[in-house]
Amino acid sequence: MDLGLKGKRALVCAASKGLGRGCAEALAEAGVALTINARGVDALEATAQHLRDTYGAPVTAAAGDITDEAARAEVLAAAGKVDILVTNAGGPPPGLWSDWDREHFIAALDANMLTPIALMKALLPGMMDRGWGRVVNITSSSVKSPIPQLGLSNAARTGLTGYVAGTSRQVASKGVTINNLCPGIHATDRADALDTAVTQSTGVTLDEARATRAATIPARRYGTSAEFGATCAFLCSQHAGYIVGQNIVLDGGAIVATI
Ligand code: NAP
Repeated sequence: MDLGLKGKRALVCAASKGLGRGCAEALAEAGVALTINARGVDALEATAQHLRDTYGAPVTAAAGDITDEAARAEVLAAAGKVDILVTNAGGPPPGLWSDWDREHFIAALDANMLTPIALMKALLPGMMDRGWGRVVNITSSSVKSPIPQLGLSNAARTGLTGYVAGTSRQVASKGVTINNLCPGIHATDRADALDTAVTQSTGVTLDEARATRAATIPARRYGTSAEFGATCAFLCSQHAGYIVGQNIVLDGGAIVATI
């Protein structure tokens, strides 16, 4: 299927690895010119070169902490005119409800709620002026079904979800869609970190922790960044213009719900 994205320009945040990289890869394959971001320069440059070599895509690597206001301004300047925004950042650490104080919540809100909102505020006006735009926020299935040990994530991402629910309805008439992609467990460094935390609290091996988690999922496996990226690229495509303000769960059926 031609996604109709040739010549579009995208900013994909937190994209040197994992789910962000999967989105960048699928957009590059669709003919999109990319600015990709992450903090670590080496992995970011390696991913940028891979995308150029594999897809012939024009790729700008803009290193910096996307949750930092000054760094974010530099990333936005490097990206220039943007038709497609994919927001993403690292997830907060796991813990117990009693572990977290105000500063922990402020950090989580900054990373997983206020940063995507700031990026949208910066880029939505240009998209609306040009009459076309796509925003995909990488959130978490925890907005539909909370993950108890990820209370910081549950709280911050639910705030973003509420913001998108209203804002997406305010910009849709200008040809701009905003949707959230809500991953369940996917095989990335983040999943390794979560499974490693399980090994430390229970004494099981990493393979045992993975197998135990996979057994709870109807698909009996972790998702891949490639599957996730393909869904992102479809949401950004010309065909998805009528999908507005939705929360698309990619979790192998892990959340049991009728709708
Ligand atoms: P990952 O494999 O650890 O990759 C994270 C990527 O984001 C890396 O490229 C990292 O590069 C970059 N990054 C992290 N913090 C950043 C920051 N402040 N500024 C710029 N770049 C940053 O993680 P992932 O699995 O792809 O997860 C992506 C998001 O989805 C996270 O918020 C995670 O919590 C959420 N999520 C993941 C899963 C899952 O199973 N994988 C499930 C639900 C939700 P640098 O470290 O070099 O910056």
